[in-house]
Amino acid sequence: MTPYQASWMDEELILLRDAVAKFYATEMTPHEERWQKQGHVDRDFWNKAGEAGILCASIPVEYGGSGGDFRHEAVIISEQYRASGVSGFGNHVHSQISAHYILNYGTEEQKMRWLPKMASGEMVCAIAMSEPGTGSDLLGIKTSAKKDGEEYIINGSKIFISNGQQADLIVLVTKTDPDAGSKGLSLIMVETKDLKGFRRGRNLDKIGMKSQDTSELFFDNVRVPQNFLLGEEEGRGMYQLMESLPQERLVVAIGGLGVIEKAVEDTINYTSERKAFGKSIMDFQNTRFKLAEAKTIAHIARVFVDNCTERHTAGELDSATASMAKWWVTQMQCDVVDECLQLHGGYGYMMEYPIAQMYADSRVQKIYGGTNEIMKELIARSLVPTR
Ligand SMILES: Cc1cc2nc3c(=O)[nH]c(=O)nc-3n(C[C@H](O)[C@H](O)[C@H](O)COP(=O)(O)OP(=O)(O)OC[C@H]3O[C@@H](n4cnc5c(N)ncnc54)[C@H](O)[C@@H]3O)c2cc1C
Repeated sequence: MTPYQASWMDEELILLRDAVAKFYATEMTPHEERWQKQGHVDRDFWNKAGEAGILCASIPVEYGGSGGDFRHEAVIISEQYRASGVSGFGNHVHSQISAHYILNYGTEEQKMRWLPKMASGEMVCAIAMSEPGTGSDLLGIKTSAKKDGEEYIINGSKIFISNGQQADLIVLVTKTDPDAGSKGLSLIMVETKDLKGFRRGRNLDKIGMKSQDTSELFFDNVRVPQNFLLGEEEGRGMYQLMESLPQERLVVAIGGLGVIEKAVEDTINYTSERKAFGKSIMDFQNTRFKLAEAKTIAHIARVFVDNCTERHTAGELDSATASMAKWWVTQMQCDVVDECLQLHGGYGYMMEYPIAQMYADSRVQKIYGGTNEIMKELIARSLVPTR
């Protein structure tokens, strides 16, 4: 089969891909098992990633980033998921999602205050939208921010927040006006160090993604300066979220694609070595057909995601197409990983085999970043009759 490569992969991106793969192989994969037991990556791994240029790759150099574009992020995400098939390191939330809220909507002062520290790993960032009472329906959030003098007073709680245990900085979705509907949401930045009234719940016990910390966060009369409102105008939160969520959805799809590719590769290797009835498992027609199907899916997903990456880099990716990438790739991820696990037999159910890890980690991809049902709702809005 002729090797395929995205037309946008140039020499510089190939060098980046190889350097990032080497970094993950030496600095991440050997620690995964320990990180899974402790429930989070080592804090100093963030600093190492910052030194290696893996954080904030598409943030301009003047704000401490590497000055790349979304293609650089795509390479970094893809290599992370391909490295071990697991996704403990919450760089997607930190670099590819939160940093872009600050870059796109922050004032100059805000960008200078937070982005360089995020790029170096001095600050770890989380984004907190979901609450115990609502996830899909963002207008239903209850966390309130009320002006008081020069400050906002914040009350409420958030749940399922990735990087929640380690976050030094949070992009917090709040309600600044409960009567203003979609114009009542605002994003407020919260610095967590020594912050009175702020509390982290326990690190939540999940089915998979054990090395990524996920937390409940509590805000009890927390005071933050008014100039921590992202941008200069209240009530812009819903617009900012809607404008930024396509990037988040594409990021999830790119991660899913990395897992599909790794699952297929690992399973080809495993079934070629394992024997039954005097021949290798790969020699059974069922195995060959299942893997032929999986490889076809991996190729279609790669071409589609690469196309979305190209369009997003050019600023042309619409919400419906990003939603298609998110739901379809993550559904395929779960289907392919399940078939690949089956081809591993009993060993596929053992956590020491990467395919078992991939199985446990993959499930959530259909839930966060907007559930796949919400993705289909968004796509359905583009179903307009032509006559
Ligand atoms: C490991 C993990 C990490 C996460 N990280 C973050 C994070 O960093 N920050 C953050 O803010 N959130 C995070 N989340 C939360 C995640 O985004 C939400 O769980 C998700 O948006 C769904 O919200 P919910 O759990 O409240 O489900 P609900 O909204 O209650 O949905 C329940 C079910 O109803 C379906 N449903 C809801 N509305 C509709 C509709 N209109 N049409 C059809 N079906 C519908 C859903 O698809 C789902 O199947 C994370 C979650 C997990 C599990």
